[in-house]
Amino acid sequence: MKAIRGFKDILPAESALWRHIESEAFRVFSTYGFSEIRLPILEKTELFSRSIGEGTDIVEKEMYSFKDRRGDGLTLRPEGTAPAVRAYIENKLHVKPVTKLYYTGPMFRYERPQKGRYRQFYQIGAEVLGDADPKVDAETIEMLIKYFRIIGIKDAVLNINSLGCSGCRPGYKLELLRFLGARMDSLCENCQRRVEENPLRALDCKSQGCVEATEDAPSMVDQLCRPCFEHFEGVTGFLMQLDVNYVLNSRMVRGLDYYTRTTFEITGPNLGAQNTIAAGGRYDKLVSELGGPDTPCFGFAIGMERLSIVLSSTGGFGASLSSPIFFFVSMGKPTRKKAMALVAEMRDGGFRVETAYIEGSPKKAMKRADKLGAVYTIILGEDELSKGVVSVKEMATADQSFVPYGELILWLNATLTGMG
Ligand code: ATP
Ligand code: MG
Repeated sequence: MKAIRGFKDILPAESALWRHIESEAFRVFSTYGFSEIRLPILEKTELFSRSIGEGTDIVEKEMYSFKDRRGDGLTLRPEGTAPAVRAYIENKLHVKPVTKLYYTGPMFRYERPQKGRYRQFYQIGAEVLGDADPKVDAETIEMLIKYFRIIGIKDAVLNINSLGCSGCRPGYKLELLRFLGARMDSLCENCQRRVEENPLRALDCKSQGCVEATEDAPSMVDQLCRPCFEHFEGVTGFLMQLDVNYVLNSRMVRGLDYYTRTTFEITGPNLGAQNTIAAGGRYDKLVSELGGPDTPCFGFAIGMERLSIVLSSTGGFGASLSSPIFFFVSMGKPTRKKAMALVAEMRDGGFRVETAYIEGSPKKAMKRADKLGAVYTIILGEDELSKGVVSVKEMATADQSFVPYGELILWLNATLTGMG
């Protein structure tokens, strides 16, 4: 039996890095006032079709949708913003002036699997609900860049754009439609079909023809209405003051229809075509469209697989993230009780301990310790028992020390600090 195509296991060799990525995210985000929300993996299909948009790739062809036993249409979430907004409205979190949420977990999209693109993938997402101020956009992006720097991604590139609002976007859409109308033959079939309904999709399309045809397409930023223009200026102004470099990318429209005003993407190194490690933007109308009060919002999601690929390729992680293994050998029945007490003490002290309770020669146990990659083997034989010590052997050097029971934890902590 094999896992489903596009689904994969995160094995222990990788999961230490994943946990590190997650816990650092939560630590950094909480210093900006974010708290965790845990969301269901299944939602009503309607939640996604209404928010992400009927004419998007996700809703048209990528959702895992099915009917449950009662016949209700359900979907494995393809993203976390719509569920977060649903929860925000349902639980009346809007009584607070501003709500900052983060979440993590698997998302599902029926895409063509390749490096950095899977059918089940993990995101770390964050949403600021209830604040229209451009400082929110800038500060949240700055938080993300800082987080990337902390975990070791230094050459991330920020692309930003503004998609305007329901006031200025229709005019832009018309102009774009006129532009695309003259280049219909170059567009891919999919974009030809949906160009009338949603011409912006052609700017997001990855097919060669569409990329070329839209190269000199009119730019949304040139068509922003006064309030949207000022908002965008506010965002870029704050970014500069926060020392965050950005590239203005007028083609960047994102694959979800709910975005208004600011959108952004952050790309990372060593990823090939799938090089976006985080993306997001403003969605000022989504809460009201889903039945809540008028609530301007800003959010983003990070792709964990891509982050993990970047970090593994730049190195420096792995072994150092999982704690060293100590192998405790109890030799002979009389030593067992004391051995068990010492092992319990070590584990209570946070050490990672494997054990062997043996009779006779320690040869096999030592081999096993070696195979497990233990850094120290601790032996309690009858000799040691009578003296009230254990023998601690450093596997790499075969150096041996005798340590009294009562000093073991102190001794281990001191050598571990030395190992740094
Ligand atoms: P892309 O353009 O790469 O398809 P997207 O615009 O569909 O990305 P979002 O929906 O904004 O992406 O999701 C945010 C992030 O989640 C992406 O930047 C990426 O890092 C990650 N992501 C999206 N889809 C996948 C996938 N199928 N497999 C792995 N990671 C993904
Ligand atoms: Mg996509």
